[in-house]
Amino acid sequence: MPLTPRAVLANAKVRSALQQAWIDSNPGVTDVHEEGGFVVKNADESLNVIRWPKGLQDTIEVPPHPNCKIDDLEIVASFHTHPNIGSDYLQEPSETDKRAVRDDPNLKGEEYIGEFVISQATIYLVSITGQVLEMDDTQAVFTK
Ligand SMILES: [Zn+2]
Repeated sequence: MPLTPRAVLANAKVRSALQQAWIDSNPGVTDVHEEGGFVVKNADESLNVIRWPKGLQDTIEVPPHPNCKIDDLEIVASFHTHPNIGSDYLQEPSETDKRAVRDDPNLKGEEYIGEFVISQATIYLVSITGQVLEMDDTQAVFTK
């Protein structure tokens, strides 16, 4: 049975990885760029995080994940940051973000619950059907 999004977000390892990705995005300073990764399930059911490499021109490069797996581990969630904190920028998940989750044939694993999008104020979830849910206040997740 898949974990609930809330259970994934409550995991200490996941929380600190989301916080590290946010810090690495340099929010509000120079060299602002998105960061992201996969949350995977180990053989013993514990969770781990595999970060995506940084691509050219500050894009993020989602590594291949056939059958919703990476390094032979089941992917339970994905995440990326929205570190542009000015009011001119979209904080919530974009249409492209929703499509990327909903329409990716390799994000259809039984354990996969969706993609977290981390903005300064709010952590959102793009569900597997492309719906956006507000999960929690970002700072509450980071400092728990
Ligand atoms: Zn996005």
